Amino acid sequence: MNKEKNNGNSKVYFDCNATAPILKEACQAALWSMERVYANPSSSHIAGAEAKLILEESRIQASKLLNVKPTEIYFTSGATEAIQISVLSVLNWIKDQIKDEPSFLNKKILISKTEHKAVYNSIIHWKKILGVNLEVVQIGVNSKGHISLDEIQEHINDTVFLCTMAVNNETGLITNLKEIEKVIRSSASKVFWLVDCVQALGKISLNFNDLSVDYATFSGHKVHAPKGIGFLYLREKAPQCSLIVGGGQERGIRAGTENHPGIAAIGVILEKLNKIKDGCLDANFKTNQELFHFRSLLLNSLVEAFPAIEINTDLENSVATTLNFSVYGFTSKELMRVFDAAGVSLSGGSACNSKSLDYSHVLEAMNLPEWRKASAIRLSFGLTTSQEEIFLGIKNIQAAGKALKNSCLNLACKIIDDSIDNNSEDSLIHGITQLEYDSSNTWLISDINTRFCVIIDPTFESIDRLISLIKCKNLNIQAVLDTHSHADHVSARSCLLEKLLLKNDACDELGWNSESNILNFNSSTWEIERLETPGHTLDSVSYFLKNKSSLDEKIECVFIGDTVLIGGLGRTDFSISDSKLFYDTIKNLDKKLHDNTILCPAHDYSQSIVTTWGTEKRNNILLKKLFDPLNCMSEKEFFAEKKLIDSQLLETNLQGKLVCGTISNSVLTDKSLPTISIEDLDASVFEIIDIRENAESILFKNWNVLNFINPPKNIPLTKIVNFFNYLINEENKNKPIALLCSTGNRSLAIAKSLRRIGIKNVWSISGGLALSQLKYDNLYNF
Ligand code: PLP
Repeated sequence: MNKEKNNGNSKVYFDCNATAPILKEACQAALWSMERVYANPSSSHIAGAEAKLILEESRIQASKLLNVKPTEIYFTSGATEAIQISVLSVLNWIKDQIKDEPSFLNKKILISKTEHKAVYNSIIHWKKILGVNLEVVQIGVNSKGHISLDEIQEHINDTVFLCTMAVNNETGLITNLKEIEKVIRSSASKVFWLVDCVQALGKISLNFNDLSVDYATFSGHKVHAPKGIGFLYLREKAPQCSLIVGGGQERGIRAGTENHPGIAAIGVILEKLNKIKDGCLDANFKTNQELFHFRSLLLNSLVEAFPAIEINTDLENSVATTLNFSVYGFTSKELMRVFDAAGVSLSGGSACNSKSLDYSHVLEAMNLPEWRKASAIRLSFGLTTSQEEIFLGIKNIQAAGKALKNSCLNLACKIIDDSIDNNSEDSLIHGITQLEYDSSNTWLISDINTRFCVIIDPTFESIDRLISLIKCKNLNIQAVLDTHSHADHVSARSCLLEKLLLKNDACDELGWNSESNILNFNSSTWEIERLETPGHTLDSVSYFLKNKSSLDEKIECVFIGDTVLIGGLGRTDFSISDSKLFYDTIKNLDKKLHDNTILCPAHDYSQSIVTTWGTEKRNNILLKKLFDPLNCMSEKEFFAEKKLIDSQLLETNLQGKLVCGTISNSVLTDKSLPTISIEDLDASVFEIIDIRENAESILFKNWNVLNFINPPKNIPLTKIVNFFNYLINEENKNKPIALLCSTGNRSLAIAKSLRRIGIKNVWSISGGLALSQLKYDNLYNF
């Protein structure tokens, strides 16, 4: 068991569908192959014969397990390679058929929509290489992931190749292969059938004497053998084509000296699986009953820790070792970070890249609701996972749930439950909070002394989290405001008020509920002044946040909507835009704003958090020209240039989504990397700031492993604007600051954004906690 320490918690590894830990006996077999049986199996001396014997013994074990002939097993570097051989073999055969019978071109290739990318991409690749232009039909699945037999039936008479999988890698769903066989083998058409069995090996029984599969693919690292070894079952009479030619190894299908250590290692696993198949117990491999018991323990623990959980795995028809779930109110990335901090390694069921939400194609095919796709997590344990690990996992899962609850973020159920603790630190909510979703910002300004808050530009996605924070912290909403009528989305203002059972007593369309331009929200700290800033839309306004407790009633920041974006200006080509008014607005803003005034826009397309007026004037070519005292741009020239910029704004810039202004990937002018390694960091000189969210931060307290004298201050990313505000002050601008997060990615983005607005002595600790810990754990010392 992996006993790495993580703040005193041991870590537990639940990502076995990605790669399972290698069984000790498999490691020993690989080592033994390297140290003792290192000869080339093709050599004709005794040492070579010994090596060959091991290799063939592993092949026999594979054939026995699948009930096929040893000559039908081919060792490969892994499943991806086995898939290539299968696809190439069939497509090459098809190519030959087309020569004799051109109508063969009308045949189809069927592939399930939930197949691993390796299968789909291989088909597309080899089709192109071989010039075999057959139609590829993607067969749909139902909401549980079961393949549509009707759709297969519909196409089967014109089909030549079908690709399905035995067990899905993301959900654990078992495919009923017998049912598929019935459909395809009752057709008049000769269909070659590839079944990807990577996630099935060792988990369900596979008997190819009783199932007419032509190609089946397997991977070592999913079954506790090393990476770099896999195998292919290729039915004797099915088409074959060499993928790699050379010395004729693997009967010429896959030449190259064999990966003997890998083959020896997988041989050990296969031998064990055969013994289990014969009814023996194994000290390491759990029985199916034990695995299902583990799953129910984990499931109970997840439901208890995250009441708003939804299980995406069809529990009735899935292997025991995979649990795919979503937690309402969180993205996969957020959940993964908290699990990681709690010492549970698992995998995000959807990849969120910086600009858009990139959902899992499996969950997409299952047509799950948007939030479930965005929040999906895959927990997968292994065939050798111990009860001790399961108990540790449960303990860590509980810690993750509790940490989220304490940070007022764990949505207790889809409608907020009043039982949420509100004992988390008040400082975490005071000031400005940024809730970002898919590049749109929602801002919450709160005063924890008087418990008043104002919300600016709420999005639908932020509603539940806002409600959770508001209820948890007993905040009273003073106003819910929009900076303009959004062209890209409907305001969520009324929906938010409705959900909170609050009356909408706003005076105007944007939610302003005061007769004057000042909103003094019963706070000793904050005051908001409204300024009309029309142009992007006719009704655009900006909200100036003043700090009443500062001597000069300093403007903390301006919620500027889309008028000024980070690295760009709001577009003025909508029917509700006015470029003349926009020009006046920009001129007017310049009179009101200082160079150091922080601007909080409604969108953050470049993950830069905020900007300052001075930064935009320095970097934005149009603003630069407009405010150049030597060459002041005329109003006419401004219109012409602005029109040109707007015309270049493709509406499809963000995957078909409307964008509200210039999106620039190059907002960062300084290309140098502001990183510092943990070894170079003098903790007595730098102020170290942990920018992970509070839930992650409270799960890690073992700072002395990093030689930090004091625990770093936690300023979560959602509250980092307040820190920007602090650092922008002249007296703080040069303070040496080192930012820390879990992997160094978030801290680097923040360090770059701070550099961009002129804070020069700020650094990101490279590799974050993960790498720093690795160094201190001496993981590289074998
Ligand atoms: N097929 C499935 C279902 C998988 O889960 C994987 C690995 O994630 C593969 C194929 C590719 O396997 P390998 O890593 O051995 O190439």
